[in-house]
Amino acid sequence: ADQPNDRLESSRPKAPTQKQEKDLQRRKQELFEFRKNLPVFTARDQIIKGVQENETVVIVGETGSGKTTQIPQFLLECGIGSPGRGAIAVTQPRRVAATSLAKRVAEEVGTTLGYRVGYTVRFDDTSSQHTMIKYLTDGMLLRELLSDKLLLRYSVVMLDEAHERTLRTDMLFGMVKEIQQTRKEMVQRGEKNVCELKIVVMSATLDAEKFSEYFNGARIMYVSGRLFPVKVYNTIEPQSDYLDAALVTIFQIHMRRPKGDILVFLTGQEEIETLTALLTEYAGQLPSNVQALLPCPLFAALPPAQQQKVFEPAPHNTRKVVLATNIAETSITISGIRYVIDCGVAKVRGFNAKIGVESLLVHPISKSSARQRMGRAGREAAGFCYRLYTEPSFGSLEENTIPEIKRCNLAAAVLNLKAAGVNDVLHFDYMDRPSRTSLSRALEQLYSLSAIDDKGTLTQEGNQMAEFPLDPVFSKVLIQSQQYECTSEVISIISLLSVDSVFFTPPDKRDNVAEAKKRFVHPDGDHLTLLNVLKSYWEVKGDKEWCRENFINMRNIKIVLDVRNQLIQFCTRMGIVSSTSAGNETDNILKSFLSGFFQNTALLQPDGTYKSVVGGQTISIHPGSSMFGKRVEAIMYNELVFTTKQYVRGVSTVQGAWLPMAAPKYFGNSKLASTTTT
Ligand code: ADP
Ligand code: MG
Repeated sequence: ADQPNDRLESSRPKAPTQKQEKDLQRRKQELFEFRKNLPVFTARDQIIKGVQENETVVIVGETGSGKTTQIPQFLLECGIGSPGRGAIAVTQPRRVAATSLAKRVAEEVGTTLGYRVGYTVRFDDTSSQHTMIKYLTDGMLLRELLSDKLLLRYSVVMLDEAHERTLRTDMLFGMVKEIQQTRKEMVQRGEKNVCELKIVVMSATLDAEKFSEYFNGARIMYVSGRLFPVKVYNTIEPQSDYLDAALVTIFQIHMRRPKGDILVFLTGQEEIETLTALLTEYAGQLPSNVQALLPCPLFAALPPAQQQKVFEPAPHNTRKVVLATNIAETSITISGIRYVIDCGVAKVRGFNAKIGVESLLVHPISKSSARQRMGRAGREAAGFCYRLYTEPSFGSLEENTIPEIKRCNLAAAVLNLKAAGVNDVLHFDYMDRPSRTSLSRALEQLYSLSAIDDKGTLTQEGNQMAEFPLDPVFSKVLIQSQQYECTSEVISIISLLSVDSVFFTPPDKRDNVAEAKKRFVHPDGDHLTLLNVLKSYWEVKGDKEWCRENFINMRNIKIVLDVRNQLIQFCTRMGIVSSTSAGNETDNILKSFLSGFFQNTALLQPDGTYKSVVGGQTISIHPGSSMFGKRVEAIMYNELVFTTKQYVRGVSTVQGAWLPMAAPKYFGNSKLASTTTT
């Protein structure tokens, strides 16, 4: 019963067989030659001593110096992590990092993955009771806290990539700090079966004092890295299309510059796939006397086998071009990179306090991020960094990335805190305290979703929502779908919303794509249109030719199907029946979504524009939406994107009369009336 509920594919890793053992040992020896030369290796004894003598240590070291892969092994070798005392948890903000690092370290330790070294990420638990080093996403450690409030299965918690200051890392900071204190008191009282909890905070940037201060003056240790000089080029003019600029730069490097792989930082899966396709096309047309070009995409949703490909050295006479999200900034190090191309932006979760909704924003990176990206070019030799923005624009960047807790919708965080037993979220020990306003707003949202009652206590439904591996809004939708008997459809649509797009959009075929999309349009909007795509895909049994003709992104559909399967398994475990709606299917599906997305609604105005119900902002339907240009009484949308205008995407039509029903607590007062009569 101590396993969180959303571990679905709990594979049961076994000890290696004798035959495997031999291969594992050979590989271990081979990798040891590499490990020995990592910068942290020379600091091994000091690091062990540092952790033995201090309850908390902050370790700072250049990306690639070996912090994440080596230090857990040191702590295992010296017995700080042991079957008696507890395992070593290493948290990562990103799932891809957790899985690929675990894989690597399992090889270095000489064990099968999931046996002595493993990982736990949402929907995939490759660990066992024998696992002594466990890489896990910070979200998963938070979930483990639900069932193991003092994290007794661990003797050390390593909070990695602390500089990223994701919401979850910040929550963990506060929680492990308190657990450390509690466990210390228990040990002092002489309680059995408890040892003190060591905390190791690891960061790639130099802002260690702040972490140290927060952890009561923790000891700071610096691991000296090595970094070769990197020459930086900025563009002279601002670039209107950085994808195009990146493409041009890649070929300039390829044709004119000496050997060495290229790393391109982009914002997301869709861009990466577009550029990969373009590169593949052009690379095929290179003259035969030029070395080949091999594009390697790297983003979170990429299947593990493909992720592993970026680590493999390029074949003979081939230049590798890694196209990555900011995952390659500090969490994952790829060898062979001499050239970095930095588009200067990243996709971040943003929260607009004025209209009270969360949205994904393509946001300029900080100077500190830009320097990290640059550094990737100088790990093995002198390198070059091409910034696709001007020098003055670099000057205008924020110094450091603003902690997520200061920018995002806190509802999920507050729900998690509450479920983890932190009832007084206003007085939690935050490293950076979110504003009172955003905390209150989160509480208000949770209240309107019926996740907490008017005293701020978690309701039964709220408890259930915290169990869900989803944003509370989606959890609500899923829970409500039972009542509307359309859980199966709702699960499909939520899964479809988990990818950027189910369509593939080559830039030169925009018109054809638009034409293809029309075949799936449902009159009630994007939610049902998406469902149509999936249904059609099933009808033709995923026929490849059909996908090509209709510009269906097969890889994304596979991801959708995977998420869908996982959600179905999850619901089964939670005792939710995936019923299919019989009667008024369309309305029921939309009503289910509305029960979570009632704040993402807008009403048609006499002048033909839409005004958001919350905040009364004028919003436009994104041209990519099937609802573009349509006038209906009321719309509900999945997300708000700021570009030149405030666009909404994932739009469906709803009836104004449904709103009070969807969220009686929210619309119970005269809120709705007061926003419509303007
Ligand atoms: P840090 O945490 O200090 O940034 P890491 O421990 O992640 O450093 O990486 C140390 C070295 O291990 C890097 O040089 C990297 O190239 C190598 N490495 C890490 N993961 C893999 C992998 N999956 N495959 C091959 N090499 C890897
Ligand atoms: Mg690391």
